[in-house]
Amino acid sequence: MQWLGRRESSNVDDRRGVTGGPLAVGGGIIGVIFLLAKFLLGGGETSDLQQVFPQEQQQEMTAEQKAADDKRASYVKVVLADTEDVWDKIFNDMGKQYQKPTLVLFRGSTTSGCGGASSQSGPFYCPADNDVYIDLSFAEELQTRFGASGDFPLAYVIAHEVGHHVQSLLGLSNKMQRLRSEVTETEYNRYSVKMELQADFYAGLWAHYNQKMKNVMEQKDIEEALNAASAIGDDNITKGRVSPDAFTHGTSAQRMYWFKKGFETGDVKQGNTFEAGDL
Ligand SMILES: [Zn+2]
Repeated sequence: MQWLGRRESSNVDDRRGVTGGPLAVGGGIIGVIFLLAKFLLGGGETSDLQQVFPQEQQQEMTAEQKAADDKRASYVKVVLADTEDVWDKIFNDMGKQYQKPTLVLFRGSTTSGCGGASSQSGPFYCPADNDVYIDLSFAEELQTRFGASGDFPLAYVIAHEVGHHVQSLLGLSNKMQRLRSEVTETEYNRYSVKMELQADFYAGLWAHYNQKMKNVMEQKDIEEALNAASAIGDDNITKGRVSPDAFTHGTSAQRMYWFKKGFETGDVKQGNTFEAGDL
C-alpha cells in the first residue's frame, strides 16, 4: 500500500515509552514505585510484577530498531486514518454517524478498560473503552511466527480490530455479552467465530473502499492479507491440537473467504456472518 506522506490519524494514544522499550529508565522508575507499592501493601509475590513488566521489555532498543518501530507507528497511524475516512463514508451512507476509536500503541504491557494487556495478548479491541490496543512487536511476530510477509498484514489486523469497533457501534458487542451467560460454551464459541469472521469481512470491505476512494492499494496487498488471514486461522495456529468446537476465530479458509467477500463485494450488507448458516 502506498502510505508514505499520507495523513496520520491523531486518535492515537502512544504509550510505547511508558513501560519500557526506548525509555527503559521511565519503566524502571515506575517499576520501582510499583514494587514499593506492592511491598507497602504487603503483596509479596513477584508474579504480578513479572506480568506487568516482563523481562523482555526492559531491553533497550537500538537506534535502528527504534527507527523501524517509529516507521511502523507511522504506518499504523496512516492505516487508522484510512479506516476513519472509509467508515465515516459507510456510516454516512447508512444515515449514521461514525464515532472514531482511539488506538493505543504500547510495548510490553499496558492497562485497558478490559484489564491488563501484554504483548502476549496480541492486538485486541476493548468494547468497554472503545479502544484498539496493539503492541508493535506483534508486527514482527506476524512475520517471524506466522510467516505473513509484507507490510499489509499489519493493516489487515488493524482493520480487523476496527471492524470489532464497528460491531460495537452497531450494538453487536452488547448482544454477545448477553449471550455469554445464556448459551453453552460450544455455542458461544460458534457465535464468537461469526463475530471474528464479520470483522474479517469488514477488513476486506475497508480495503475495497480504500482502493475506491484513494487508489492506494497494490495487488500484493490483498495477497498478503489473504496469506495473513490464512496464517492466523484457528486450525493453522492449533495444528489439530484443538477440536473445531473450541475454535473462536474461524479456520484459515473461512477467514480468507470473508475477507475476500468484503473486498470483492464492497457491500456492507453482505457481511451478515450470523445468517450465513454453516459459513
Ligand atoms: Zn478479532
